[in-house]
Amino acid sequence: MAGAQDDWERRAAGDPRTPPQQLSELANRRWDLHAVIAANPNAFPELRRWIAQVHPAALPPVPPRPPQPMPVPASGRQGPIPPQAARPVPAPPQIPGYPRPVVSGVRERRGSAGWWFAGCGCLLVLALGVLGVVLFWAALAGQVGATNAAGEIAAQNGGAAAGGEAGDEPEVAEHLANFEAERATYDALRTRLDGNPVAPLVAVYDEQMDVLEERAQDPEIDEFGARSLAYQAAQYREELEAAFAAADARKARQDGTLTERLVMRETDGFVDVVRDAETECGASEAGSITTGCVFGGDPLTIHLLPESGIDSDWEREMLVIHELAHVYQNADEEGLADDLVARGLFQKSREKMADCYALTYFDRWELAYGGQSIGYDYVCTESERQAIREWAAAIDAPMPN
Ligand SMILES: [Zn+2]
Repeated sequence: MAGAQDDWERRAAGDPRTPPQQLSELANRRWDLHAVIAANPNAFPELRRWIAQVHPAALPPVPPRPPQPMPVPASGRQGPIPPQAARPVPAPPQIPGYPRPVVSGVRERRGSAGWWFAGCGCLLVLALGVLGVVLFWAALAGQVGATNAAGEIAAQNGGAAAGGEAGDEPEVAEHLANFEAERATYDALRTRLDGNPVAPLVAVYDEQMDVLEERAQDPEIDEFGARSLAYQAAQYREELEAAFAAADARKARQDGTLTERLVMRETDGFVDVVRDAETECGASEAGSITTGCVFGGDPLTIHLLPESGIDSDWEREMLVIHELAHVYQNADEEGLADDLVARGLFQKSREKMADCYALTYFDRWELAYGGQSIGYDYVCTESERQAIREWAAAIDAPMPN
């Protein structure tokens, strides 16, 4: 079995249909295949650079062999972990922080430097997102376009393991059955996220799973292709299981504070609370402090001040629901929130929209309590609240009022 596995991994390392993520995993495990992986057109630049760094002898032009060759492990993980292929999920834009004046009174306007910084973050994250999409489609196109070439390579290799021969049919059927089993397990697990507004941020491989399903229907699929489908589906299923285990662990260890209880209740543990708002959320203008923030590049983490740094339960509730609104904005794949803002609602501000979500959620009509004012200085109207209710219904976000 081990020999057959090794042979398959060697073919996968050289096959231009092998997805970038799989090449990265192979590179981590099989240093003896680094030269083959580096020559694969699907090896992304960071992966090649990593191989060049940890295993320079693997790359052409072949340098003279050093007197003491770098030890290559026969198996098992060694050294730094290779870079991961970019996820084919565009990261939503960065969300600036949630300000609150230190003392009661009218909050000053956000300074231009703050806006510049937020804009810079948006551009950067957007650019990364576009890159991820390009890599994903390039990988797909490579897989499709390279099918003929790979088939020729497989035919040249000859032997019982070559793809597309009649003798492969039992193996093809077995791998396809494995794929379908993985897919069924994934779908069964996925039902736990039904009705959860953060589902699009957790089950990030839904679309790729559909792509695999289409490829599984191809009557010309060979043993390599079928085996690759089963492998990839198993990766997606494992990632989903890991996300569920992390959510369960998070719920089990929650600290009992009001803010954390609210986050766990609204998202079933899939959103993390980290108490580092003071250092992570960026500076507010004079007279204000930032009590929480969410970043588009890490949309399942809410950064908050420690519970004691927030003055009242009223403010804790408004803060958490405001930040959760940002999480839902990021999970809103259809861009419905952006459409509302673009139409001029909430004074064209995603922040004021988040305030409006919290105000509607609690049926509150002011952004102040006990002399403390919070948020972005705009109490939304009834018609805006109705738009919030419809948005919440469309994206499965909780809305009691
Ligand atoms: Zn905000």
